[in-house]
Amino acid sequence: MEYDIHGYDRYILNFSGGKDSSATFLYLLDQGIPRDRVELWHQDIDGRERTFFDWEVTPDYCRRFAQAFGVKIYFQWKEGGFYREMMRENALTAPNCYELSDGTLGRSGGTRGKPGTRLRFPQAAADLRTRWCSSYLKIDVCSAAIVHQPRFQGIRTLVLSGERGEESPQRAKYAVWEPDRADLRNGRIPRYVDRHRPIRDWKESEVWAIIERYRVRAHPCYYMGWGRCSCKFCIFGNRNQFASAAHISPALTREIIGLEGQFGCTIKRSCDLGDLIASGTPYPHITDELKALATNYDYDRPIILPRDEPWLLPAGAYGENCGAM
Ligand code: SF4
Repeated sequence: MEYDIHGYDRYILNFSGGKDSSATFLYLLDQGIPRDRVELWHQDIDGRERTFFDWEVTPDYCRRFAQAFGVKIYFQWKEGGFYREMMRENALTAPNCYELSDGTLGRSGGTRGKPGTRLRFPQAAADLRTRWCSSYLKIDVCSAAIVHQPRFQGIRTLVLSGERGEESPQRAKYAVWEPDRADLRNGRIPRYVDRHRPIRDWKESEVWAIIERYRVRAHPCYYMGWGRCSCKFCIFGNRNQFASAAHISPALTREIIGLEGQFGCTIKRSCDLGDLIASGTPYPHITDELKALATNYDYDRPIILPRDEPWLLPAGAYGENCGAM
């Protein structure tokens, strides 16, 4: 099948606020894709009720990034987010919610199927059935938002994401181009949707190089020492990453440790979170200023650095690679 990045009416970029999705966006600009055809889509892990697992600042960082480059941004989430899905007990999964282009909210799902029980954290595994956060809180909500919006019928849409093969053997095997799971090109009312992973074979140095060239200030977690911008408490975090998250958000950490005990099932198979944190060392670059920035709901720094401010490589660049596989 022939693919051409210029052959689409609409470009949806799955945008986490991290370096790889930022680099993917900047790559689109390099390719000359008109900004009015590009939409950033951020799947909000925690939904709208409370911030439990992710960085408080991430949604606003994404919003400001879109503003700085003059592109639209839409948010999608599962009602009740990570916490409600985790606490599901003999209940259906919650509906998916998505912002629509007319400013209203779409909502679908959550009414059929078999009631189920989780009462455990996602497991740090490649299998998306046990690592349910990726499938239920990101992949499914994104697809639902495409499938339930008639504006994607009868046009060609390209969904882009920033997975890189360097991050894991699984990601190295992802296709660079393929029909997206929301595709229905042979349907009665066709919906033509392809998936593109343009930076699958990029090295980390290429990612930072394009971010530097566009003078983008990265998400605050990188300046504190995180190598990947995942959830604050990403299940794939190692002992230093969890010790850093515990240093930044002690009350939430206590709650998560308490839930591990309540569930009788830990995030890591090898030890509980308390022991893991005790064996780690918080990143030395965490300052009060960065901590406040990352745990604030407003991101108040320019996304594109002013000319008189030097671009600095974040402390977490080329650091520990712990995040989704
Ligand atoms: S960043 Fe980690 S915890 Fe968050 S959704 Fe992805 S795999 Fe799950």
